[in-house]
Amino acid sequence: MNIVMLGSPGAGKGTYAGILSEKYSIPHISTGDLFRDIVKEDTELGRKVKEILDSGGLQSDDITLEILRKRLEKDDCKKGFILDGYPRNISQAESLSTIADIDLVLYFVASENIVLDRLGGRLTCPKCSAIFHMKNIPPKVEGKCDHCGADLYQRPDQMPEAIKKRLALYGEVTAPLIDYYRGKGKIKEISSDPPIAELEKIIGPCTEIIDSKLKEE
Ligand SMILES: [Zn+2]
Repeated sequence: MNIVMLGSPGAGKGTYAGILSEKYSIPHISTGDLFRDIVKEDTELGRKVKEILDSGGLQSDDITLEILRKRLEKDDCKKGFILDGYPRNISQAESLSTIADIDLVLYFVASENIVLDRLGGRLTCPKCSAIFHMKNIPPKVEGKCDHCGADLYQRPDQMPEAIKKRLALYGEVTAPLIDYYRGKGKIKEISSDPPIAELEKIIGPCTEIIDSKLKEE
């Protein structure tokens, strides 16, 4: 079962990928991790990837595909894999289809207010860098660091407006990719609104879909 995971920022797909990977004994392959691993190798490809990572640029589609192809050839992928962080657009999806057949695309969707709640609300201490959360880890005294008493602040990229912008951008970039997989009848949408304490409400529907697909095979 070759699975692609898609999901907006704050949808938590990395967490679900890890759980499903264990449950079905297939590897969770994150392209971010692949790049970090390949940099540790003393090869020409590793040096190329490092150069791009260090400059803060994006890896080219060719390099990404080559690294991914090598990874998918490994023995542990024989039963399948869960791909996380790739493809990000139609062109990458088409490249991917030349090296692997994707059986299923799980698309995790979280409501905007839930994402705002998850990603926002974080409070940082400017003095000792301690991190709090308005709801989940509130400081003992509102707005003050528990450790050093400094005034806590919200990082600009964690302000509601910045998060809304990120979500809108994700929607714009991903919409064509969603349509692409929908056209192929491969996409299944799953709400990731339930809180982490009710993880089964998200994992349950995933396993139902995967199990019924496995029966078809
Ligand atoms: Zn502090």
